[in-house]
Amino acid sequence: MVSKWKKDFPIFSKKINGRKLIYLDSAGTSQKPKQVISSESEFYEKYNSNIHRGVNTLSEHATQLYENSRVKTAEFMGAGSDEVVFVRNATEGINLVAQSYGRQHVKKGDTILLTEMEHHSNIIPWQLLATEKGAKVEYVEVDKETGKLDELDLERKLSSQQMAIFAFTHVSNVLGTVNNVKKLARLAKSNGATVVLDSCQSFPHMEVNVKNLGVDFAVLSGHKIFAPTGIGALYGRKELLEEMSPFLSGGNMISTVSKESATWNEVPWKFEAGTPNIAGTIALGAAIDYMNRIGMKNIENYNNKLVDYCVSELQKLPFIKIYPPLKEKVGAVAFNVANIHPHDVASVLDNEGIAIRTGHHCCQPLMNALGVNATCRASFQIYNEFSDVDSLVNALNKCKKVFKL
Ligand SMILES: *Cc1c(COP(=O)(O)O)cnc(C)c1O
Repeated sequence: MVSKWKKDFPIFSKKINGRKLIYLDSAGTSQKPKQVISSESEFYEKYNSNIHRGVNTLSEHATQLYENSRVKTAEFMGAGSDEVVFVRNATEGINLVAQSYGRQHVKKGDTILLTEMEHHSNIIPWQLLATEKGAKVEYVEVDKETGKLDELDLERKLSSQQMAIFAFTHVSNVLGTVNNVKKLARLAKSNGATVVLDSCQSFPHMEVNVKNLGVDFAVLSGHKIFAPTGIGALYGRKELLEEMSPFLSGGNMISTVSKESATWNEVPWKFEAGTPNIAGTIALGAAIDYMNRIGMKNIENYNNKLVDYCVSELQKLPFIKIYPPLKEKVGAVAFNVANIHPHDVASVLDNEGIAIRTGHHCCQPLMNALGVNATCRASFQIYNEFSDVDSLVNALNKCKKVFKL
């Protein structure tokens, strides 16, 4: 399978260690198409100005581009425009929810339920909140054989507690597991919990509609969907955003200020203090245009074929262990090479121009549940091809020789 889209990504003309680049770390960050790169430089060349302020042509144009990007982002997420807050990254989005909504609603003795497959960004903000409030953090267990959440454990934990918040990932950035968000959200709500979705790994690979899914909050990471670093989005149900206190404060997020006090700007600007990443936000809009032009269904089908092919090729290598050894995955394939440390595997692969990710993938509780310290991870996007998997397999066979397996 050959990629029609690879030519859009200038980085692939670069050589790594004298070889062509094979990039298998899109779950870490995606590469950027020229359409996004030029959108950012075009802003600085033609429209650079601060927004929401000056009555001048440049500023008005910049504001229009920025707000237009909000409309595109909202459509992409399945939300209303006034329900999308621009943030630096998904991590900031989750912190915003924990520090604003969480502080206002979580009480002593409450439970914040997470899962063992969460990214640290969806763990630490809740641990800090729980410590401050005297609340408990609990984790739904992951079944090691299937990589799925243990449903019995989930139902037991959801129903037996004073549930405040259930925060969980849509797609695991390690296992590639897709959680049944609709069902989990419904269960959580019937137990009185507010639902926070970490959708960082679903937006790059499938159509996601936060309203249909029935969640209260959801985060999007720009750099994982072809946009620049430094821009992300938080969806929050309008009623919730309205009653929440500001997270960061200062310019832009106010309506009036006196020496003693202030009143807040309307949602979503109430949560956008200071000068935002204007160029990055506009480039996020360009990334969404790019994905929409290809079509999310096409992106999903193409990436699923890559992942299937990768799993079936790796399964032929007896010295590889896949976590879990199933094809039912989205975006990423985690594996280990016999008892070789993943970092040693990565450096053999790097010599071949192949970039994979190794380590705990910001998921140490998941690593503990799997009984490993680290794994290798190959993750995919539309610029990858079947031949990238073949190169990975060849390089892993080289590992076999180097490490005498
Ligand atoms: C990347 C990622 C995050 C963090 O996103 P940033 O935008 O880099 O802060 C959180 N959760 C998951 C599942 C991720 O893959």
